[in-house]
Parts: sequence; C-alpha cells; structure tokens
Amino acid sequence: MDVEIYREKVIKFVDSVIRPNLATWEESGSYPLELHALAAKENILSLGQNPEDEFHDDLACRKVLIEELSRSGSQAMVMALASHFVSLNAFKTTLPQTYTRLCKQVFSGKKTLVLALTEPQAGSDLKSIQCEASLEGEGEYLLSGEKTFICNGGRADYMLTAARLDKKLTLFLVKADKNSITSSEIPCLGWQGLPIASIKFNRVKATRVGEPGQAGRLLQQILLQERLNLAVMANTSAMVTFEAALEYSKKRKVQGSPLFEQQIIRHRLADMHGKIELCRAYINQYIAAVTVSGPDAKAIAIAKNQAVEILEEVAAKSVQIHGASGCISGSQAERIYRDARLLGLGGGSTEVMNEMISRLL
Ligand SMILES: Cc1cc2nc3c(=O)[nH]c(=O)nc-3n(C[C@H](O)[C@H](O)[C@H](O)COP(=O)(O)OP(=O)(O)OC[C@H]3O[C@@H](n4cnc5c(N)ncnc54)[C@H](O)[C@@H]3O)c2cc1C
Repeated sequence: MDVEIYREKVIKFVDSVIRPNLATWEESGSYPLELHALAAKENILSLGQNPEDEFHDDLACRKVLIEELSRSGSQAMVMALASHFVSLNAFKTTLPQTYTRLCKQVFSGKKTLVLALTEPQAGSDLKSIQCEASLEGEGEYLLSGEKTFICNGGRADYMLTAARLDKKLTLFLVKADKNSITSSEIPCLGWQGLPIASIKFNRVKATRVGEPGQAGRLLQQILLQERLNLAVMANTSAMVTFEAALEYSKKRKVQGSPLFEQQIIRHRLADMHGKIELCRAYINQYIAAVTVSGPDAKAIAIAKNQAVEILEEVAAKSVQIHGASGCISGSQAERIYRDARLLGLGGGSTEVMNEMISRLL
C-alpha cells in the first residue's frame, strides 16, 4: 500500500478511536481487546495489506504505524498495536505454516501474540532463564516456570517464550490456557492502559520454535527489529512533547508577553529541536540503507540509545516549560514524561546497548 495513504488511515484511527478514549483506558488500567479488531477492520495491523494475503514486511509502513501511534501521545498504544511484528518474525523460517496462520489471526484482530522472555531472575541476562521444557509427545512440550513484566501477558492468546530444554535455551510458542497459566497484574510507572503481568506456567503445552539451543541466535535477529521500533517510538514521542511545549510557550504569558519571548526558553526549545532532528536523520538514514546493506546491530543500538536519551531530556524539559500544567495526570507532557523512563530498560537496556556498541567499536 502507498505509505502516505496508509499514514492517513492510521491518523484517522488514532484521532477517532484512540485519542478520545486514552484517559479512560489509563484510569481503568487496560484498553479493550476489541481495539485489535477495530484496527484490523482498517487493515492497520497488517500495514494496509489484506490479512488473508501473504504478508510482506514493509519497513516504511511499519515506521509510519509506530510514528502515528506514538503521536497519540501514549507509547502503550504502540506496544499494543505494533509489537506483534517482532514475535511473528521468529516463525517465518522456523515454522512457516504457523507463521502464515498466526499472521492471519493477528492481522485480522482475532488473536493477540506477545513476547514473554523476562523472568524474575533473568532480565538483561537472558542466559539466566530457568523456565523448563520437557518433551511429552511427538512435537509436544510442557513448560513450567515464571515470566514477568509481560505486556498484555495476562490476556494474550499466544506467547513467544524461551525455556531450557535439556539445559539448552530454546524458543517456544505457548497458547493461552486457563488451566495451566495463572497471571497477576503489575502496576507500572508508565505505559498505563496496557496491562503488564507476571505469569506462571504450570506444565502448559508448547510448540518448539527453531532447534534446541537456537534461542539466542533467533532472539538476536528479532530483537534488532524491536530496538529499531523503540528508537522510532522514542524519537516521535520526543517530537510530540516538544511540539506541545513550543505551542504552550507561544500561548502562555509571563510578564505580559509569551513565554517564547524569553531567550532562555527559545534557546532551550532550539536545542531540543536540534537533538530530535539529528536523531531522526540518523534513524531515517539507517532505514534508507538497511534494505541494501542488511541490519546493522551497532547502528540500531546507537539509534535506540540516542533516541531514548534525547526523549528523557526533552520530556523533562517539556514538563518544565509547561509549568504546573505539565504535571496534570493524563496531560500529554505528563504522560510522555512517565512513559519515557521505561524505554531505557525495555528491548535491551541502555547499558546493554552500550556494551554491544563498545564491543563493535
Ligand atoms: C514496562 C515494561 C514492559 C516490559 N514488557 C516486557 C515484555 O512484554 N516481555 C518481556 O519479555 N519483557 C518485558 N519487560 C522486561 C524488560 O525486557 C526488562 O526490564 C529488561 O530486559 C531489563 O531487565 P531487568 O528489569 O531484570 O533489569 P536487570 O537486567 O536486572 O538490570 C538492572 C540494571 O542493571 C543494568 N545492567 C544489566 N546488565 C548490565 C551490564 N552487563 N553492565 C552494566 N549494567 C547492566 C540494566 O541496564 C539495569 O539498569 C518489560 C519491562 C518494562 C519496564
């Protein structure tokens, strides 16, 4: 689909369905799962493609989806409606038939798929994963263990997860099953409206994804996509809160003239703008080159870390420029400020990204 036509579709969806309901969803702690079906009606979850057709990942459209969902002002909406591509990617070469079936189910909004890796003792250090898998029948495995901080974890239909199979770290697909999965919600600083949960697997049925011991290699591939998505999300969130601060500074009067007339405020805005633009140019340059030269782990790690650092700085300065009105719960400046803190942890923390960059220097 034409990228700009797709952008218009997503903008319309955000304006008519998401924006008017964000505050209510944040207050209640969860957005309704019907949102997936509503988005699917417009082919938003499948990047404008017919869910029944063979899916072609389209980086330009994926970027548009993340940008426009971020423009809603809530990163929770990006995690809700644009994070499925990362998990789907793990099935493409390992289980092609499952990939086709899951694409149809997820793109039509009938099912949800999430990534469930983190355990209480294993976050950055995925080698510490303890969840155990055992072979039960032909191609059927049983998983036991605990996962934590899982977006939509308590209500997802499918989870892509990792467990030890004969001590080897291996990926598995788990289907939700009330008899062998229990969950409890974790209240969180940001991404409100997106329920985050701890999950216990008690001999839940699972399908192996890839060969035993291949989890590390597969995760390296799919997490590159996740990090690029998060870089786009961070950069767009920074742009949104910067624009709000700029607009506010032109309306708000101090000592009889707009705040923007104060040189210190103008210069602060100029500095914020410059950092956002530089980072955006870096991300765009990377995306333009990636189709030719393939993924570049160092460039993605740089993009994620820089975008997140700039977002944290810009989000804090935006609240400062907004004064007390930037502290009102549910205001755009406040929401982006609290969401900003999460991005330095998820998808590979800042320290882990720096470790990766330094090893590739
Ligand atoms: C809102 C939210 C949603 C999430 N959603 C999901 C999800 O859907 N699925 C999922 O699987 N996980 C999810 N996570 C978990 C996330 O991936 C982890 O938080 C992340 O991997 C970091 O792990 P940790 O929190 O256990 O921190 P730890 O790994 O314990 O790290 C603690 C601190 O030490 C730093 N650190 C770690 N290693 C090093 C090192 N080698 N050198 C220097 N510093 C280091 C870290 O950067 C961090 O600052 C989510 C987390 C949050 C906050």
